[in-house]
This record gives sequence, structure tokens and C-alpha cells, in this order.
Amino acid sequence: MSTKRDKTGKFIKGHKPPKLWRAKHRQFMSGKKCSVETKKKMSLAKKGKMPKNIKQFAGWNKGKHGFNGGSKHYNWKGGLTNISLIIRHSLKYKEWRTKVFKRDNYVCLMCSKKGGYLEADHIIWFSKIINKLVNRYGIKNLFQRAMKSRMLWSIKNGRTLCLPCHKTTFIWLE
Ligand SMILES: [Zn+2]
Repeated sequence: MSTKRDKTGKFIKGHKPPKLWRAKHRQFMSGKKCSVETKKKMSLAKKGKMPKNIKQFAGWNKGKHGFNGGSKHYNWKGGLTNISLIIRHSLKYKEWRTKVFKRDNYVCLMCSKKGGYLEADHIIWFSKIINKLVNRYGIKNLFQRAMKSRMLWSIKNGRTLCLPCHKTTFIWLE
């Protein structure tokens, strides 16, 4: 007698699943995963702006003392590293190194070893000078600023060291 009413009762029970919400939220979040830095690197690589062998050098100064001064500028750290590398591989850098070697008569200032594999060390750290320039002028035109920096290219700020001695200094970046 009352079976028809039971059927309508079932109809009322139906409800929409909340799963749809969660799925949509997940989709939204996953779209945000690619960081700005990753995007930057990808676009740089596509434009071919990075010098050859950059992968070989990437992260070469990671964890080394001296580069952490700009930790608050984490976002452009990758760009800073690239610019530093380009400076270190520039003709001007090679010329500076040669001048330092010549002045020191190709003798290591720490152990007096002559010749062999020598390196020119910045007494006031290369990275410190670069960081100073960045703090003052920003990363824009950093390369041009660095090339004009008196401190960076002063022979007085250079010293000749052999590789083993250079490695014992506080910072080893050259
Ligand atoms: Zn030495």
C-alpha cells in the first residue's frame, strides 16, 4: 500500500560528491609549481645566452663563503653567478692575472714556489667586490660596472699563489 512512498524517500537521499572540489583545487595548485628561477633558467637556455660549458660550472661556487652576502637576493643569484663567470673568463681578467704574476715574478707568495700552476688571488675577494657593486647599483649593467671597477682590476688587490696554497686560503673561488 505505501511502497510508492518509499521510492520517493530514496530520491531525497542523493547528494553531490565533494570530490570535485578537491580535484579542482589540486589542478589549480599544480599549475604554480614551476618556480621563477626555473623559468628564468629555461628561458636563458632557450635564448642561448648562457656561455658554453655553463652546466660544467653551474653551482661551482655553491656553499663557498663569500657569495652568501647576497642571500637576500636569492632570486637573481643565478644571474649573478653567470656574470661572475663571464668576468672570470674575460680577456681583462686574463690580463690582470698576467700582470699580477709578472709583478710577483711568478713566485707563490705563501710558499715561495716558482712557476708551475699559479693562480692570481683577489686579496679583497672577487665575490665581495661584485656583491658590493650589486648592492649599490643592482644587477642591471653589473658586467659593465664590474669591468670599470678599480678595486676589481687593481694589481695591488692581486697576489700570486700556487694551487695548493690557494686552496688553503679562506676563500677559494678563482
Ligand atoms: Zn704556494
